[in-house]
Amino acid sequence: MSSNQDIPPRLDRDDARVPARRLVVLTCMDARIDLRSTLDVKPGDAHVLRNAGGRVTEDVLRALVLSQTYMDTRSVIVIHHTGCGLAQIANETIRADAGLSLGMPPALDFMPLEATFEASLTADLERLDASGHVLPGTLLTGAVYDVATHRVEILMKRTVGRGRTDH
Ligand SMILES: [Zn+2]
Repeated sequence: MSSNQDIPPRLDRDDARVPARRLVVLTCMDARIDLRSTLDVKPGDAHVLRNAGGRVTEDVLRALVLSQTYMDTRSVIVIHHTGCGLAQIANETIRADAGLSLGMPPALDFMPLEATFEASLTADLERLDASGHVLPGTLLTGAVYDVATHRVEILMKRTVGRGRTDH
């Protein structure tokens, strides 16, 4: 008897689900960000992960492992943006503001952005690289989205496992 007898078989792979550009986009939940017209990301092209700030959270790592293991994605672009609500605000302020209506301050890390895009993106790309959950050789790109012009500027690139960020 196999010790694997209780593990259900994997579903047949459905290649139609593999993102055509083998790309994962991580960006903010901000309603103004239009990935389709800016990055030409159409349905079928990429996995799109969005959260407050476009930060690398545990849940982003969870999604990335699934994306790379089952759907062959091999590059990740992290996009922060101008006018982000998580810029120039402190965790304590957010907790206090939310606590006014919740009754008590939420004990959460809201992961506010650092002082500059450069610093925030560097921190997020390093977090991806250091996590041990992203495949070596994966290309990481850090970029800024301008919500006024809808243009994206690439600030840095890093390859997982190579130990440096190129600006
Ligand atoms: Zn934002």
